[in-house]
This record gives sequence, structure tokens and C-alpha cells, in this order.
Amino acid sequence: MANHLYDGLFARHEGSTRDFLILPDGTRVSHAAFLDRAARYAGALAAAGLVPGDRVALQLEKSVDMLAVIAGAIRAGIVFLPLNPAYTSAEVSYFVSDAGAKLLLCDGRNEPALAPVAEAAGAALLTVNADGSGSFADRARTATAAPIAPRQPGDLAALLYTSGTTGRSKGAMMSHANLRSNAEVLVDYWRFDDRDVLLHALPIFHTHGLFVATNVALMAGCPMIFLPRFDTETVLRHLPQATAMMGVPTFYTRLLDDPRLTRDCVAGMRLFISGSAPLLAETHRLWEDRTGHRILERYGMTETNMNSSNPYEGERRAGTVGFPLPGIELKVCDAEGHELPRGEIGTLEVRGPNVFQGYWNMPAKTAEELRPDGFFITGDLGLIDAAGYVTIVGRGKDLIISGGFNVYPKEVEMALDDLPGVHESAVIGAPHPDFGEAVVAVVVPQPGTTPDRHALRAALDTRLARFKQPKLIAFRADLPRNTMGKVQKALLRDEFRESFTGSGAEPA
Ligand code: AMP
Repeated sequence: MANHLYDGLFARHEGSTRDFLILPDGTRVSHAAFLDRAARYAGALAAAGLVPGDRVALQLEKSVDMLAVIAGAIRAGIVFLPLNPAYTSAEVSYFVSDAGAKLLLCDGRNEPALAPVAEAAGAALLTVNADGSGSFADRARTATAAPIAPRQPGDLAALLYTSGTTGRSKGAMMSHANLRSNAEVLVDYWRFDDRDVLLHALPIFHTHGLFVATNVALMAGCPMIFLPRFDTETVLRHLPQATAMMGVPTFYTRLLDDPRLTRDCVAGMRLFISGSAPLLAETHRLWEDRTGHRILERYGMTETNMNSSNPYEGERRAGTVGFPLPGIELKVCDAEGHELPRGEIGTLEVRGPNVFQGYWNMPAKTAEELRPDGFFITGDLGLIDAAGYVTIVGRGKDLIISGGFNVYPKEVEMALDDLPGVHESAVIGAPHPDFGEAVVAVVVPQPGTTPDRHALRAALDTRLARFKQPKLIAFRADLPRNTMGKVQKALLRDEFRESFTGSGAEPA
């Protein structure tokens, strides 16, 4: 088995004039040109004094050069930390110090703000701009290509800081072998080959756009239409040239909002994949009605890469995340880690070559979440049905315990989403003097409708046990989401924290 993520890859694409990146302005970068740029970035990292195992932090705009720096770091065995461009200097400061990064790469515009951060952390600061200019980009142009650093299976390729909404963000240690094994499985499971063209509109600081999409395209030898961000207009323009798209659910809902999404414009597509947040069953259905394609939903996380997927052939079941991927074990457990019978809800635990090496500098946290036998406690609640399909019902920390009873937010959200006038909903728990926690539903109405609270309550009364019914229903124009389309329930919990205990309760 290959130890280095790129074992064999550079050799395979050497001299290949086939496209790897297609940019919105029509510029094309071949596999060979991209890998050459990466090899020179590897050389520039070595020339800056970094050796295998050292860390480089990057807070860059999505661009060819950002991707090439990453590929260069991987080639040279240097561990990289991709940081969300939205992070403030204070946040960057935490990541750079925590990781002990020797070098921080930033966009030229942010150099003045980040100079004190780098200095305080003892890291060098250099720039790479989205247009390929910048002090480090210039160095790479004249650098000698560095060879592929020999790597052992457990050697780290990346530190991905989780977007934790509570407590300190944790650096998930991803090894070369973690990334390699997952990319190989996905290429095969989703049938990628060099005839594909992958539409890429995801950020590349997060596992989805960074590893799932990019590594699959590199391994399959196919090009990516590489867009700086998701924008309905640009995506619609490029869909006719693509064969596959990986997206978060909001990509699909936004495209559905545009009447130009037709069967014709996706005639050349063979696969739509969704993940990173739950795809509503309704979106699945609407997408199929409009385009004739059934979206393939899969489930993964920063710490584990991809865990499960709906089948390529066979039934792609809406509302489920399919089956554990080949070589990956997934079970539903109680708090002690005992496996529960099929159909029961519990915590999902996962084991396989995809599972990370632990949290950087956090042995206690690692021991809490990684069992000695290798199972990772995902923190997601779910069940496996009789046919083997996995369904996620929410994050463990989102579970509501009201009057001593467990309420799974997803069950209440699904009941609400089915009601006339409801576009979508988010259900959270808020402290309650009698019940401990009470169920709060935040409802986004369908455009042009104003659902009636009493009608919603009456409808829920016939569908849900009394303890699951919302004690408060609030209407909002939309739900707070992060870049990956995840509903930020922590923000909602803050907003409704005093609904039952404070003076400013909303009308129930
Ligand atoms: P991240 O580490 O940012 O990729 O977030 C991972 C989390 O996103 C998982 O633990 C799940 O809670 C959630 N997630 C990812 N994919 C799905 C999916 N298809 N359906 C529901 N939740 C998902």
C-alpha cells in the first residue's frame, strides 16, 4: 500500500497535457503544469527551512496557487493547516501558535494585520495572492523542485482545525494514509475516471472541497472546473461542461430557486453528490423532478474523511447517508460503546483507515473520543435500518432532553417541514424551569406564505407525542448557516436561551 498520498501520482501525470484546472475566465492548467508548480512550492518550503513534519499555516483565497502550495506541502512531507479566510487575526494567532507553525502564508492584503501575529508565534510571514503574485509565490517560481519526501503510514499530511462552535477548536491530525485510502475508495465507489469533469465550487480550507473533491480528481486524473466560490450564475453557466458536482445542500436549494436549472443544462452530468449537512428529502425529490437525477448523499467529517455513501448503482434513499464505505466499520452505540440493535438511535462510531490520528496536542481529548480499539465516537446520533442504510438524526450535543425524555430535533424538523407553508425549520432546546429543556422550533415559511402557529400546532398534535411538540414556534426569514451550509444551532440556542426563563419570551 502507498504511504504517501501522492505515491505514483506525480509519475503518472508527468508530461500530461490533460487539463487539471479549468478557471472561469477560460484559463486551463494541465496536470503536469499544476504538479510542476506544486513541486516548486515544495522546493520553496524546503528553502525556507521547513523539513518534513514541520507545519505551515495558510490563510489564502481559493486559487490555483493555494492548491499548489497545499500539494507542494504534501509532496515535501510538510504538514499544512488551511485556515478559513474569514478568521480574524486573533483566531489565526491561536491556530499558528497551537500548531507551532514555522511559516504563515497569507494574502498580501492581510500582511500588515498578520505581521504581529507571526512575530508573536515565532513564524515567518510570506504572501501568496490569488493571482499568483506574492513574495512566496515569487520564490516558488525560481525554486528547484523538491523530491517527494518518503513517508510512513502514520505520518501527518494536514492539521484540520474543527469549526467547533463551543470550546477550543481542535486540530485533527490527518495522515497521508488516511487521505490516500479514502480517495482511493471514493474514486472507485463513485466511478470517477479521466473522462469526468468535476465542478468545484466549494472552499478548499475544509475537508469536502479540499480532500474529497481535489484528491478524487487528482487520483482519477480528471479536470475540475475550479470556481472561486458558489454563485448560482457561474455554476449554471458551467454545468453543461461538467459530468459531476460535489456540493453542500445549499448549492442544490439555490440552483432549484433558479428557473434556468433544466434537464437540458445537466444533460452531460452523471453524478450529483451532497454532503457536509443534511439534505432535505424535499430537496432530493424536487431535484429529481426537475433534472431527472437522484442526488447521492454521503456522510463524513473532518476527523474521518468520508464514512458512508448512498450507492452509485442501487437505490439512493432520500434522508439517508447510505452504507458504510468499503473497509470502514460503522456502528450505533450507547454511551458505553455497546452496539445497539438495528433501528435504535444511538451514537455513531466509526473505524477504518480513514479515521484520523487524534487531536494535535490534546491527548486527553483524543482519549475521550478515540476508543482503544480504534473506534471514533463521532458525536453524531443515528440509526441503521433493516436494509443497512444509515440515517443521521443530529449531533449528540443538539439532543434535547425535555421532562426526562429524549427529543431528536430531526424528527420534529421533518414533521414541521412536511406541513403546508413551511420551507424549512431548525429545532433546538432552551432551558425551561419545569422541563429542564423545552423544544423550540424556528420556522422559515415558504416564500409568500405566513403559516399560522395554531394550525402548525394542531397538525403536529396528530404527528408527535406531546413531549416532542415545540413549546415555542418562532418565524424567521432564514436560518443562520456557516460556509458549509450547516445550520448554526449554537447561535439559535443563544438567541432563545432566555425564552422560558427571562422576561423577553417570544409569543408561543
Ligand atoms: P465537518 O467536520 O465540518 O465536516 O462536519 C462534520 C459533521 O457534519 C458531521 O459530524 C455531521 O454532523 C455533519 N454531516 C456531514 N455530512 C452529513 C450528511 N450527509 N447529513 C447530515 N449531517 C452531515
